[in-house]
Parts: sequence; C-alpha cells; structure tokens
Amino acid sequence: MSDQNHLDALRHSAAHLLAAAVLELYPDAKRTIGPSIENGFYYDFEFSSPITDMDLKRIEKQMKKIINTWGEGFSHRSVTPDEARAEYKNNPYKLELVDQFTGEGQNLTFYKVGNYEDLCRGGHCEHPKEELKHFKLMSLAGAYWRGDEKNAMLTRIYGTAFATQEALDAYLHMLEEAKKRDHRKLGKELGLFAFSDLVGPGLPLFTPKGATIRRLLEDYVWDLMRPFGYERVDIPHMAKADLYKTSGHWDKFTDDIFHVSSKKSDEQFVMKPMNCPHHTQIYASEQRSYRDLPLRFSEVTKVYRDENTGQLQGLSRVRSITQDDAHVFCRIDQVKDEARAIYQIVQAFYKTFNMPLDARLSLSDPSQPDKYLGERSVWETSEGMLRELLQEFGVAFEEVQGEAAFYGPKIDFVAKDAIGRPWQLATIQLDFNLPERFQLEYVDEHGEKVRPVMVHRAISGSLERFMGVLIEHYAGAFPLWIAPVQVRVASVSEVHKDAVSQLVRDLKAAGVRAEADVSDATVGAKIRNASKMKIPYTIIFGDKELGGEAFHVRVFGEEEEQVIDQTSLAEQILKTSKEQRGV
Ligand SMILES: [Zn+2]
Ligand SMILES: [Zn+2]
Repeated sequence: MSDQNHLDALRHSAAHLLAAAVLELYPDAKRTIGPSIENGFYYDFEFSSPITDMDLKRIEKQMKKIINTWGEGFSHRSVTPDEARAEYKNNPYKLELVDQFTGEGQNLTFYKVGNYEDLCRGGHCEHPKEELKHFKLMSLAGAYWRGDEKNAMLTRIYGTAFATQEALDAYLHMLEEAKKRDHRKLGKELGLFAFSDLVGPGLPLFTPKGATIRRLLEDYVWDLMRPFGYERVDIPHMAKADLYKTSGHWDKFTDDIFHVSSKKSDEQFVMKPMNCPHHTQIYASEQRSYRDLPLRFSEVTKVYRDENTGQLQGLSRVRSITQDDAHVFCRIDQVKDEARAIYQIVQAFYKTFNMPLDARLSLSDPSQPDKYLGERSVWETSEGMLRELLQEFGVAFEEVQGEAAFYGPKIDFVAKDAIGRPWQLATIQLDFNLPERFQLEYVDEHGEKVRPVMVHRAISGSLERFMGVLIEHYAGAFPLWIAPVQVRVASVSEVHKDAVSQLVRDLKAAGVRAEADVSDATVGAKIRNASKMKIPYTIIFGDKELGGEAFHVRVFGEEEEQVIDQTSLAEQILKTSKEQRGV
C-alpha cells in the first residue's frame, strides 16, 4: 500500500472512530457520511442540540478511550436492503443512502470494529488499535446534507490523523505557520495589493509596491527565457467568440467566460479565458517553413475567468489572472530540446526561490488509444522524449498512465514552500489538438504540408497566485533582489533630512529601490516601522553619517549590522541582488 493510500485508510478509519465517540456521548445524534479528505477526514451529524468547539475535546477524549477496544480490527458482513433499513429506521440520511445504493445495484456492507458498526464500502487500516493513535479534531462547520442548501443543515466535525506523532505535530505546526503567513493579511500590512467593492470581487489591484514585485518577477522570467530564443508578442484582451468555438474552449469554459457585447456590431465578443488561440493566429499569419521552427511566442498578459464569488480567495483564486505565458510551435523531433529548455528555465526559477521541485509525468493510457487525438506513434515518441528528459535531469518524478489530456502528454512540477506545502505551478504541456483545430501547418523539406506540435508552458503559473505563494513562503520578508523597497534611510533629526533625501535620490538614480523616512518619529519608532515592513536594509542617518562615516546597515532578520562605505552602498545592494537572482 502506498503511503497516501495508507493515510487515506487511516483517516477513513478515524472517521468511524469519531462517529463511534459521538454516538456514545450523544446517543440521539444522527450520523450521515464521513470520508477521508485531503488533509484529514470529517463526519457529518445531525445533533439534537448544537455543539461547540468545547465539545470537540470531550469527543476526542472519548475517541482515545474507544480505540483501545478496537484491537480486533474491522470485520464486515453483507446485508440486505431490508436489514439495512431496519438498522437505520430512525435515521433518514442513512435510509436515503441505502435506497440510493440499492437503486444503483450495489451490494450493501456493514463494517464493524469494537462495538461500532456502520454502512461502508471498506478501505480501513488493518490494526486500528496500534495504527490509529495520532489524530486530532480540528474544527466544526455547518454543512448541508449532500451539499444542497435545500436540505437540512448538519454539523460537520473535521479532524486529521497521521501515521506518527511527528507527522501530526509537523502538520499542526505548518497550519500555525500558514496562519501567520496568510498572504491576505500580510499583503494588507505590507501594502502590496487591495480589493475594491467598486472594481469587483476577484479583481486585485496592485499598489506601487505590489506592482514592483510583479515587474521584478516578469523581468526575471524573461531574463531566463531570452537565451532560449523566445520572442515577445502582444495580443488584445478580447476576441470574437468564434475563436474559442474553433479552439474548442467555448464548450469547455462555457461557465467561466465573460461576455462582451458591442453596440456597433452583432458579433459576439468575450474576454479571453486563455492566450493559446490568439497565439495560433500569429503563427497562422504567415506561411511557415520547417526552417522557421521552432517559433517561440511569449507574453505576460491577463486572462479572465469567472468564478463563484464564494470561491474567490485573496490572490489564490481571482477573476483576472496574469499569466507569464508562452507557446512553442515546433516539429516533433524538436520537442525534446524545447522541453529541455523549459525545464532549465523552471529549474533556475525555483532554485532562486529555494523551492525544491518534484515532477509528475502524465501519459496516455495505451489500452485506450481511441481516447487520444493523433497517431499512436507520435504519442509514443513524445512521451518517450519527456521521460528521457526527466531521467536526464535526474529529477524525482512520478509517472501516471491515463492522466494525460486527450490532446497531449505533460509534465507538472510541484514546488515545496518554506513550510513544506506543495504547490503545483509550472507545467510543460504538449498539444496535438490546437494545431489541428486551427489547421496550422508548415512546409517540410519535401514540400509537404505538416502540422506543427504546440507546447504550452507555465513557469510561475499565474503572477497573482505565485505572489500569494511567495508572500507566504517568505512570510513577507522578501530577499533583497525582489523586495519592493530594498533600503530605507531614516533621519535622526531635522538637520539630517536634506542629506537623507539626497542620498535616497542618488540611490534611486543608481537603480536601488530606496525610500526615506524623514518623519518626526523617534529613531526607535523609525527602526520598528522599517522592521514591521520587513525592509531588508535600514540605515539610521545621523551626525556621523553626515560627516561621511560608513553606514551601519541593519539587515532584516539578522543580529549583526553590516558596515558599508557610503560610496559603495548602491554597488553593494545591486551586487547582492544580482547574486541572489542568478542572472
Ligand atoms: Zn469505512
Ligand atoms: Zn496555452
């Protein structure tokens, strides 16, 4: 059993344990369903009177007692629908499930462990008494039966369970850290972005500081890409609906597309939900020869996708999404070199942020060739190329057959942040479909017309989401190279103000992101403010500095001050930034 499957079995078993404890403490509670979920498990109950967070401790204690009686493990028996109905005669939820499963022709099974029995399909841990020790009830929430607001509101109890105490502790610590690092909170405190009711939900506004980080990210990705022959293109943010009807996105994104109406024509327009179709039209604007390929179009641009407002969340889930997007049009024999270049960009990018990468290779299912577009041999060649590439780089990767989209195999990269959370951000996706739909072609060396392969690739994913990840990864304390303000110079008193302003002007002219604090606050308050804004360098400018003595630079997060000559401050900051950035 894989670790993940074992964890799922453990958490599923923990849901039974939770229900057992609830029924012992609240005999008239009605249980409904209790699955394992991504980071734990839950169980939904109908309580006769509401319970509170205080009750969770009591339930957890009861669970610890009950688990000692679960030494024999789970056993199961098949039951007839009537037997099941008799068992649940006072529980309309379970009765509904029994009827549903029976209607679907499923066999019904009851799983028993200790004194607790429940309708279930199985998938438990083998030795609950020994294995199920490291669990915790996390929170309470309201949840409609079957997620439908027309149904009764139930009480959901969330919990989590791990195989070891260390893993549980690490998870709880991570949650605590994540709360402290929440990008919505830090983004506000650091003045990076804002939302406005008038502008609309899910449409973030970036302040000068936030926009600085975005620009630095854009420039950085571009600097990494440029050596590999990418060229910049530029497209409008809207297009005729026909573009997406041709690409096939119209049906797929139908609920997510923002429509734009025109009073001057009957054409139907939409805000672009993606850039690929536009880029195919740049390709198609000229006759292409095999000698022209690969063509690599790149652009940092926004796409617009509608979301239910309830699902919008800080920068993680927005309606205006900035993609650092690129599309490569190449011959099949060029796929490996192009994917290698993208891989090198991805690797350099995440190394700079000190985020280790894992890869996942999504392949076709060879037993169902009809599910996939294009010739089998093309699939085999390209899948082989991607696999060889990952092997060549010695990156840890998982291969998943049957997970590829119908139009091409892909590599997904998962980056781990400072508190161990995985983020799926970068992708290399091959596409045999769009070239077909848009009838793209090039003339090969024999004068024949051939379809190119299209490669979609993402490095940061989206700038909004990536910025959210970065804020939390660094807990708001950005390294010098990407900090919106690199150095703050604070005056000690009135007589130093002019010199401070002049110094900041000089630093800016040299390309340093500097700001002055010439307020009337005390020196102590000025130091605290700079520290609250997590500015990498702070310089207190007084008489000694006015007299030309070296700066004593306070470095955020470090005890020791750095002593830097006045004349080499700018140079020093630029040099350190460049070293951190790598290019
Ligand atoms: Zn079960
Ligand atoms: Zn694309």
